[in-house]
Amino acid sequence: MGTESDIKLINEDGTRIDGRTAEELRPIKIETNVLNRADGSALIEWGGNKILAAVYGPREAYPKHTQDINRAIVKCKYNMAAFSVDERKRPGPDRRSIEISKVVSEALTAAIMVEKFPRAQVDVFIEVLQADAGTRIAGLTAASVAVAAAGIPMRDFVVGCTAGKVEGKIVLDLCKEEDNFGEADLPVAVMSNSGKVVLMQMDGSLSLDEFNQATEMIVRATKVINQIQRDALSAKYAASMEGGE
Ligand code: ADP
Repeated sequence: MGTESDIKLINEDGTRIDGRTAEELRPIKIETNVLNRADGSALIEWGGNKILAAVYGPREAYPKHTQDINRAIVKCKYNMAAFSVDERKRPGPDRRSIEISKVVSEALTAAIMVEKFPRAQVDVFIEVLQADAGTRIAGLTAASVAVAAAGIPMRDFVVGCTAGKVEGKIVLDLCKEEDNFGEADLPVAVMSNSGKVVLMQMDGSLSLDEFNQATEMIVRATKVINQIQRDALSAKYAASMEGGE
C-alpha cells in the first residue's frame, strides 16, 4: 500500500483507472501443459501478469529427513524474474518470495490428496515473468491447474482473487496502481467446491462491513475464475483426444 499519491484512481464516472467497474475482473487466460519436461504446467495471463507454474511429482522426498510417513509434502517455490517488473528486480529469493512460497504451499497442501503419497514430495514452481499486482493469487490459481494437469489427485481446485479499497471504494482484482496507492489489498484463495478459505492476507485496513463486501466480491469472482481453470484443462484434454498432443 502506498502512503501518498496525486494519482487519481477513481474517475468522475465511478470507473477505475483502467476503465473497469468496481466488480470487474481483468482478462484472464490459462493454457495448460506448455512445458514438455514438467509433469504438469500452466501459463496464466491475468491482466498484465504473465506467470508460469510447473509441477513435478509426486516423487520420493529428498533429503530423506524431510519425508513424512503419512503424506506427501508440497514444496512451492515462487520466484519473480529480474525482468518481471519496471526496475530490474534483484534476482534470487527474498523475504517476500519466501513468504509467498510458504502460504502457497499450504494452500495447495489443503487441496491435494497428500495422504495418498506417503514419503513423497510434490514440487511446484511459480515463475513470474511479468508482474502487475496479484501475482501470488494468479500464481496459485495457475499452480492448481498445473497440479491437476499433472494428474495428481485433488479434493478441489484452489482458486483466488484479490479485492481492496481504493479512494474509499471496495473494488475487485487490484491493478498495479491500485495496489500501490490504494488503502487496502486483500488476497484470498478458496477451494472451489467446499468454499473453504485456504489463503488470506491483508495489507492496509478495512472496516468489518468493507471486509465482508470485499470477501463476497472475491467469492463471486472465484466462481468465474474456476470455470476458466476447468475450461483450460478440458481444452487440453480435448486436443489430446483429437490426437493433437
Ligand atoms: P502480489 O503480486 O501478490 O500482489 P505484492 O502485493 O507484494 O504481491 O506486490 C504487488 C506488486 O508489486 C507485484 O505484483 C509487482 O507488480 C510489484 N512488486 C512486488 N515486488 C517487487 C519488487 N521487488 N520490485 C518491483 N516491483 C515489485
